[in-house]
Amino acid sequence: MYLYNSLSHKKELFTPNDPKLVKMYTCGPTVYHYAHIGNLRTYIMEDVLEKALRYMGYPVKRVMNITDVGHLASDADSGEDKMLKGARREHKTVMEIAKYYTDAFFSDCEKLNIKRPDVVQPATGCIDEFIKIISGLLDKGFAYVAGGNVYFDTSKLEKYYVFNDHDEDDLAVGVREGVEEDTNKRNKNDFVLWFTKSKFEDQALKWDSPWGVGYPGWHIECSGISMKYLGEDLDIHAGGIDNAFPHHTNEIAQSESYFGHKWCNYWFHVHHLNTEAGKMSKSKGEFLTVSLLESKGYDPMAYRLFCLQSHYRRNLVFSWENLDNAVVAYDKLISKIAALKPEGEVEQESFAKLKERFVSALNGDLNTSLAVTALYDVLKAKCSDATKLAALADFDRVLSLNLLKAAEGYRKKQAQEEAACADPEIDALVAARTAAKQERNFAEADRIRDELKARGIEIIDTPQGAKWRKV
Ligand code: AMP
Ligand code: ZN
Repeated sequence: MYLYNSLSHKKELFTPNDPKLVKMYTCGPTVYHYAHIGNLRTYIMEDVLEKALRYMGYPVKRVMNITDVGHLASDADSGEDKMLKGARREHKTVMEIAKYYTDAFFSDCEKLNIKRPDVVQPATGCIDEFIKIISGLLDKGFAYVAGGNVYFDTSKLEKYYVFNDHDEDDLAVGVREGVEEDTNKRNKNDFVLWFTKSKFEDQALKWDSPWGVGYPGWHIECSGISMKYLGEDLDIHAGGIDNAFPHHTNEIAQSESYFGHKWCNYWFHVHHLNTEAGKMSKSKGEFLTVSLLESKGYDPMAYRLFCLQSHYRRNLVFSWENLDNAVVAYDKLISKIAALKPEGEVEQESFAKLKERFVSALNGDLNTSLAVTALYDVLKAKCSDATKLAALADFDRVLSLNLLKAAEGYRKKQAQEEAACADPEIDALVAARTAAKQERNFAEADRIRDELKARGIEIIDTPQGAKWRKV
């Protein structure tokens, strides 16, 4: 499988350290509010990546953190803890907020068929791991204490900006815009590993540490949780593109300095879902959540298809019109699948050919839009329905669009609609009209048609015979 690696800026053949276990880490949500559908685009594409790897035969261990402390209003370590803001907004405790929004996140994931990672770890449960790494970084001279906080010293690194070749000042400006300078920092990119001093004295969660009572920085969470469950080597680390800098850049800095060797081989970044007005936000404009889509009558599967129709390395623009197009595409797909009959044998040669196209789409840097096209190829193929159904079920192990289940639902609904329309008396009149026509008794045929019309019934002549419907 070829995957674009943000570290090398190239598509590379994916080769895990140990093919018997692919180690995958994904940054989880900050649970101070609902996830918006942009956040969920990232989780959908990570889910497809995990399932594609499993489909290719790799066992995968996937770990995800839950950020329930330390993620400040600005990614550059300033402002208030987002969790505290959430708690104040809702007049609840931080732990109540964390529980509520963690459950809400997984409920959204379930609706979107996003599999729960093998390990889900809230940051507040791993404070010892963070303290261990920070102590190690201090011992090795990669960190310093200033003004009560512990900072990572980026000047000790040979290379800090690992994901791009941009000018350092350009990047720093983007992140620091509107952010107050922290005068304790020796270098402008240094970041906080442990806070004991903050101008926000009401920080809710604090722990004892060798540097005083305080709380961990956001970046150290992912290094600590990954190390706890996946050890010192990671195959793939995934997240949204905005996390590449500073979050992932800082994760690499601290993990590799602590371990003394390279940490993660492949970095998978999902680009953003934007609105027509620009960046998607929880605070400005319409707060787009899965529940909002549902309240407007959208099936979450249509949103999943909407995401799969575009490549993860392209920005995607959300509009209601674009989503409506995905709804039409999904409904059409399902109605076509519903028309397939589970008859005939699975023709192995045809199945293998169809599968080849699907696999090659995934192998080409997880090209999900081509993988979706492979579904239409199945429907058009010249082979038995049983072969088509087997291929669709197989591909849905990765795409998770509920294809066969939704088709079953569609068939049931159609049968119910037909049953609701059943009426033996009208059936008999329609049959009498057909007989009259056959006997060329057109006056009688017209009389029956008019009688039915007066009762609100329309006769439709089809190649399969006369049918009727209520008008
Ligand atoms: P957060 O809960 O803010 O830590 O973000 C959760 C995930 O969503 C991270 O991987 C972010 O990089 C990602 N993310 C944030 N905004 C967007 C967006 N508009 N489109 C796609 N992913 C996003
Ligand atoms: Zn992270």
